[in-house]
Amino acid sequence: MKNVAVVGGGLMGSGIAEVSARAGHDVIVVESSDDAAKAALGRLEKSLVRAEAKGKIASASDVLGLIRVETDLGAVADREVVVEAIVEDEAAKVALFKSLDAIVEAPDAILASNTSSIPIMKLGVVTTRPTQVIGIHFFNPVPVLQLVELVPSLLTSEDTTARSRAWVEGSLGKQAIDCQDRAGFVVNALLIPFILSAIRMFESGFASAEDIDRGLVLGAAHPQGPLALADLIGLDTTKAVAESLYDEFKEPLYAAPPLLQRMVDAGLLGRKTGRGFYTYA
Ligand code: NAD
Repeated sequence: MKNVAVVGGGLMGSGIAEVSARAGHDVIVVESSDDAAKAALGRLEKSLVRAEAKGKIASASDVLGLIRVETDLGAVADREVVVEAIVEDEAAKVALFKSLDAIVEAPDAILASNTSSIPIMKLGVVTTRPTQVIGIHFFNPVPVLQLVELVPSLLTSEDTTARSRAWVEGSLGKQAIDCQDRAGFVVNALLIPFILSAIRMFESGFASAEDIDRGLVLGAAHPQGPLALADLIGLDTTKAVAESLYDEFKEPLYAAPPLLQRMVDAGLLGRKTGRGFYTYA
């Protein structure tokens, strides 16, 4: 698969576009507005220039030359694989998969979602080709983290899963694990309750954000603490994933604590807005 589209050029979509172009693919990114397209291009440029400076790629401009950012979804018609990476909102994703089904021409094209928590089945069944709909869940930052979770729904064909695996492992150089189509898959089902527990601990005044994070870095050899990680993921995304998990399992450990709700209401979304549990320049 050489022709790739990524719908949504935010934190994750720009990373997926970057690793695809670095693997030599022809990549189209679709964003929702001119401003968002400009922001996506800016993110890609910044990350690729950094990769060039670190000697990870020979030329940022050569890689950038393989990526086109569009605002018309019609641009994805000739793609062999489309990865959806728009906001974690079920209604928005359902609407998008209906549109992709109508637009993407190749009969064997793979329609993938990077969703962290929305059941793949809900996206598959709104298309006429649920056998070709699969979760391909990358991790943030995409150019750095090796893992991809492959999430076939009950209706996804073995051929789609095999071709997706060949693409992420063979072409993109990632490592895949297989998960059932349940909210949170493997990693978020374990990670989100951990982050929520850290937020509850901070919210109760039991320890400072710095000490909670230092505790896990120094005492459990985590590369960063749970609150810094929540800021990196984005507090809106963290909350959305918690809500999907709660919706699926109805377990209190998945319930978003009030502080997380208030911070999202306030627009304190973490690194992407400059302030979350920490403040960023
Ligand atoms: P983000 O808010 O950074 O990016 C979402 C982008 O989608 C925005 O740029 C927005 O303009 C664009 N968009 C929204 N609706 C669109 C539409 N209809 N068409 C085209 N573009 C549209 O969010 P993100 O963190 O990149 O998350 C994207 C997806 O990846 C979510 O499903 C999320 O759960 C998942 N995910 C996130 C992380 C993480 O750490 N943030 C990790 C793995 C997976």
